[in-house]
Amino acid sequence: MFQNLQDKLDKALHNISGRGKITEINVAETVKEIRRALVDADVSYKVAKDLTKKIQEKALGQNVLTSVTPGQLMVKIVHDELADLMGGDNVGVNLSGNPSIVLIAGLQGSGKTTFSGKLANYLKTKKQKKVLLVACDVYRPAAIDQLKVLGDQIGVEVYTEFENKNPVEISSHAIEYAKQNKFNVVIIDTAGRLAIDENMMNEIRNIHQKVIPNETLFVVDSMTGQDAVNTAKAFNDVLNYDGVVLTKLDGDTRGGAALTIRTVVEKPIKFISTGEKMEALDVFYPSRMADRILGMGDVVSLVERAQEQFDEEEARKLQKKIAKNQFGFDDFLNQIKQIKRMGNMKDLLGMIPGAGKALKDINIDDDAFKHIEALIYSMTPEERRNPAIITTSRKNRIAKGSGRTIQDINQLLKQFEQMSKMMKMMQTPQGRMMMQAMAK
Ligand code: GDP
Repeated sequence: MFQNLQDKLDKALHNISGRGKITEINVAETVKEIRRALVDADVSYKVAKDLTKKIQEKALGQNVLTSVTPGQLMVKIVHDELADLMGGDNVGVNLSGNPSIVLIAGLQGSGKTTFSGKLANYLKTKKQKKVLLVACDVYRPAAIDQLKVLGDQIGVEVYTEFENKNPVEISSHAIEYAKQNKFNVVIIDTAGRLAIDENMMNEIRNIHQKVIPNETLFVVDSMTGQDAVNTAKAFNDVLNYDGVVLTKLDGDTRGGAALTIRTVVEKPIKFISTGEKMEALDVFYPSRMADRILGMGDVVSLVERAQEQFDEEEARKLQKKIAKNQFGFDDFLNQIKQIKRMGNMKDLLGMIPGAGKALKDINIDDDAFKHIEALIYSMTPEERRNPAIITTSRKNRIAKGSGRTIQDINQLLKQFEQMSKMMKMMQTPQGRMMMQAMAK
């Protein structure tokens, strides 16, 4: 995410923090470099200029020059200004209606349907809501099917009227249906066009006026740079929406849209979408995004995703097993499954401070676990419970079954043994103390 911008800001800030002495001149130089980095990332010149002016004023006002850690102070100033640029605290989705109506708008291909599914999944699993998805893209039957597939995947009902070509009617019927069947939230996925056009705007305006949504969200593809900002403005003029959803932030986006939308439409970014998996959705927090942009990682989001996927009850059971030396390959498989559910590997690792840069040129295979899984699946239940019984002949059988080599098995067994030892050690007070010391 935002790799280029990250690199350039890092360089600008590194230069200044590396200096023994900081002068007004090199603050000015740094600020200039920051401005250039922002413009390169597709931030409009005016926004970049205003921002860097503020950074410079703050830097000089806060006595960066005499501060003991000028570099750090400078990073903090840049961080706070970036966060401020992207908006204040996160405002959640308005769910005060009964049912609450959420209208999804945006251009075709921006990721509306995918996001509708993700939002439904989020409201169902995190907020315990009974959600109804409504397919209103009457021009593309494939879009309706796509929503149905997503609905099936996440276990959310999808309301459709294949014969009806009137989205205003379909949404009204769907809301009636939701009331009768005690749904808490109705998410209406609308049709988009490839570009802003009057018909589309009239249609979405009509739906908006008829259903009077509690929440209108505008979905925009962050890869489209400054166009994203223009589209955001056009839709806001018509709908006066409540919030923005930025999609495809997992891609090679330069970041300009995330940084500038707020200043143009004065509406908060509420969610960011980072992949095609239904779980790849994050609530947007400006400060955390600033952390990520500055390569400081986003540990909080990482922990949140982990907490969502890891079951506490399971964790307790696992701890008992470890204490009793009963941790086997089946438990290991479960752990792998949980990690995979958290999302794309590279994206996850990118949330770890400092990891972004290190990972830039490394191609992380999302199927990195595949070989390990294949090996484990080729073991018998007894072997999985008690790897100590895996003899050479058993190794041969497992290698054949999994299409891997004996070396692969040996390596896995060795890693497993080391891991078991470490986990056992972490159970003891000394081990915990050591881990704490290491963490420090
Ligand atoms: P719609 O026309 O606005 O409904 O857009 P879709 O939801 O059909 O999305 C268009 C394409 O973008 C599909 O191929 C999606 O799988 C893909 N897509 C949507 N959101 C994301 C995202 O956050 N990241 C990536 N990489 N792809 C996405």
